Amino acid sequence: MSKSNKILSISDLGEFGLIDHLTKDFSISDKQLIKGIGDDAAVFSNGDTCTLVTTDLLVEGIHFNLIYTPLKHLGYKSVVVNLSDIFAMNAIPKYITVSIAVSNKFSVQALEQIYEGIKIACERFDVELIGGDTTSSLSGLFINIMAIGQAKKDEIVYRSGAKKNDLVCVSGDLGASYMGLQLLEREKEVFLADTSIQPELSGYEYIVERQLKPEPRRDILKKLKEAGIQPNAMIDISDGLSSEMLHLCKNSNLGCVIYEEKLPIHQQTILAAEMFRLDPSLPALNGGEDYELLFTVPLSQKEIIDKIHDISIIGYMHENKDYKMFVPRNGVEIELRAQGWNAMRE
Ligand code: ADP
Ligand code: MG
Repeated sequence: MSKSNKILSISDLGEFGLIDHLTKDFSISDKQLIKGIGDDAAVFSNGDTCTLVTTDLLVEGIHFNLIYTPLKHLGYKSVVVNLSDIFAMNAIPKYITVSIAVSNKFSVQALEQIYEGIKIACERFDVELIGGDTTSSLSGLFINIMAIGQAKKDEIVYRSGAKKNDLVCVSGDLGASYMGLQLLEREKEVFLADTSIQPELSGYEYIVERQLKPEPRRDILKKLKEAGIQPNAMIDISDGLSSEMLHLCKNSNLGCVIYEEKLPIHQQTILAAEMFRLDPSLPALNGGEDYELLFTVPLSQKEIIDKIHDISIIGYMHENKDYKMFVPRNGVEIELRAQGWNAMRE
C-alpha cells in the first residue's frame, strides 16, 4: 500500500513506473535466481545451464483487433512475441504454456484457428506446448503465453552488460509494424463506414505482415554466433527503439548517441509514413512491435558486424549516463525520449 493518502492514478506512473512501484518491496533471497524482474526474461541457474522464463498478455482491443487480425496470425504472434524475449537473452526457447479467456461468442472453430497459428510457431521454432489454462471472459479475448528457455550461464546476454563506446546495433528495419497498424486501422474505418468496400493494402504487404505476423530474430543470433560475436547487452524491440534504448542505458548505467541517418527503415514504411504525413523516423523511434534485436558490441568488432547482412550500426554507448542523445539529420543533438507503447500514460 502507498503510504501517502493521495490516490495515485496509473497514468501518474506509466507502465514501467507502475511495475517498479508494485514490485519494489519484493526482495530476492533464492540463491539459484540470477535475474528476477527487469530484463526480457527471468533467469535461474541449474548448475551449468540456466532456465529462462518470460510471459506476455495480449488483450483484445488493446493489442489486437479481431476485425483485421486473422485468428491464425494471432495465435502465431502470441507465441513469437514471447520467443522474442527469450532470443533477446541469447537463449533457446523450449516450452510454452497458453492460457486463454474467451467469451462464448467464439466458436470452437475460431479457437482451433488460434491454435493452428500456435502450432505453426511451435513447429517453426522447435518449442513444445506443455500446458496452460482456459476460462471464460465477459468482455473480449485474452491470451497469455509463458515461454521457458534454456542457455548456458556464460552465454546469456542481459540488458545490463553494455560497455562504454560499444557500438549500438539493430537487426532488420524499424517502424514497419506501426505503419502497418496505421494502415489496417484506416482500412477498418473505411470498412465500418461501408462494408462493401474491400481493404486496399496492395503495395504495403510487407508492413502489414510485420504487424500481423512478426518474426523473432533467431536467425540473427545464429549469424552472430557463427561470426564469433556475443553481444555485451541485448533487448528486443517491443515498445519502440527509444524506449528499449533507454532500458539498455539505465540497466548498463551508461548514456548513448543514436544517429537518425543510420536508422534502418523499409521503403514501404517510408511511403506509408509520407501518406500519413509523418516523419518516417517517428515510427522507427517510437512505433514498437518490431521484434528486432537491439544489442551492443565492442567497437573492435565493427568490421565483423559490417559484414553481417541485416544488421545496422546506429550509434554508440556514451560513458556519461545522463547523456542520451539523438542526432537528427541536421546535426543538432536532442535528448532521446521514449514515447513508445507506454499505453498507460495515454
Ligand atoms: P518486455 O517488454 O521485454 O516483455 P516488460 O516491459 O513487459 O518486458 O517487463 C519488464 C519487466 O517487468 C520484466 O522483467 C517483467 O517480467 C516485469 N513485469 C512486468 N509486469 C509485471 C508485473 N505486473 N508484476 C511483476 N513483474 C512484472
Ligand atoms: Mg522484451
